[in-house]
Amino acid sequence: MTRLVNVSNRVAQPRGDTPAGGLAVGVLAALREHGGVWFGWNGRVVSGEPAGPKLEEDGNVTYATIELSERAFELYYNGFSNTSLWPINHYLLGFFRYERREFDEYRRVNSLFARKLIPLLQPDDLIWVHDYHLIPLASELRRAGVENPIGFFLHTPFPAVEALRVLPVYEQLLRAMGAYDVVGFHTPRDLRCFNDALESIGGADHAAVDRRAPGKPHPLHTDVFPIGIDVEGCQQLAMQTGEQDNVQRMVHHLHGRQLLIGVDRLDYSKGLEERFRAFSRLLEDYPAIRNQVSYIQIAPTSRAGVRAYDDIREALERSAGMINGRFADIDWVPIRYLNRGFDRGTLMAFFRETAVGLVTPLRDGMNLVAKEFVAAQDPEDPGMLVLSRLAGAAHELTDAVLVNPYDIDGVAEAMHQALNMPLGERQERHQSMLDVLRRNDITAWRTRFVDALLSAREQRKAG
Ligand code: ADP
Repeated sequence: MTRLVNVSNRVAQPRGDTPAGGLAVGVLAALREHGGVWFGWNGRVVSGEPAGPKLEEDGNVTYATIELSERAFELYYNGFSNTSLWPINHYLLGFFRYERREFDEYRRVNSLFARKLIPLLQPDDLIWVHDYHLIPLASELRRAGVENPIGFFLHTPFPAVEALRVLPVYEQLLRAMGAYDVVGFHTPRDLRCFNDALESIGGADHAAVDRRAPGKPHPLHTDVFPIGIDVEGCQQLAMQTGEQDNVQRMVHHLHGRQLLIGVDRLDYSKGLEERFRAFSRLLEDYPAIRNQVSYIQIAPTSRAGVRAYDDIREALERSAGMINGRFADIDWVPIRYLNRGFDRGTLMAFFRETAVGLVTPLRDGMNLVAKEFVAAQDPEDPGMLVLSRLAGAAHELTDAVLVNPYDIDGVAEAMHQALNMPLGERQERHQSMLDVLRRNDITAWRTRFVDALLSAREQRKAG
């Protein structure tokens, strides 16, 4: 029986805290449908020897989780993964830093993941590795003799080679990507950048050095697999949770005003400071709108303890305070900034009550919030999405009001346009975006990637 073994840095355990994030949401939805194993870190950091894997069954999914040492957390996770790779992948080079010892630890943790995963593997398993934390995992597994098909999916953008070259070890990472059978990206642009990068180091054949499974080298299959969502699931959640107390309270406090909403992990790539400035510009440039709109920004802390993330939290608190100080009235607070998470049902119900969804990252692999926002709308009277052209989702959701998130005046105009869009136009745009979401939902994403792994297995057998 073919099992799907998903491996990601962090696992969302059934009874633990579910980390807010597209990867966790996407992998969980794909796994619940197909069944299989989810291997990775449980979120605990220990001072002694890290334990695991610990196995836990929930329905058709086995969660296999390990702990991380303090050193690994600092150097592999906060360090190389999130202070070297994350900023480069999002073209935010001002946040980039490189330390050789962090890269060394990154490799060590990848080798630890391989050692802890191998005893759980069965000969027919398909292995699907997720995201930038685990690029060298396939080469570690191959070195240990694993012959199963192994795929890699990058949930972030893949940067242009000129940005990538900032990283002293980029060639090593590219070669490590060559150790996979299947490498997938969200958009054609990411795939082009990857191919360019491979060319720059001598082409795919050169990268194939690490692609030696025991036996013959095999072809590297690269493709675009834009992640989707469970469209019906979001719609149902949005409708079911509408009567919940916190949703009703939120609606009550709008007092009939139009709601703008943003839901993001608190991350500098999400363009939150720029978005706050654009909202301020909206109130400045269109005085008639004051006291007619409310903006709720939900942004739970992520990666706390990393300097850049603590800074952005403070900057946003200051900015929200300044905007409220400048524009608030005795019966109106323009921005409510909530530094906490909500369960998915509540988020979907909030979306359904919203006039304008704001998804304006400075760069994003896909951005699932954009898709969830569209799915959660009432087709009879849908809210409109303002979406960054620099998010992967803009390749598909071309009927959103598209913006450049750095263009503060442009985003303010787009907010105004979306707030005032006639019903007929909103319905048309919503219908066409919903069609796109339905054609390429979470099942399509998972099925296409698994099919690519199955073909890789056939090729291995044939070879
Ligand atoms: P990223 O993966 O960079 O965080 P995405 O938009 O792709 O961005 O994915 C975010 C996912 O996490 C979405 O499914 C969204 O519903 C969920 N999420 C984001 N913010 C929150 C929050 N405050 N509370 C609960 N879930 C959240």
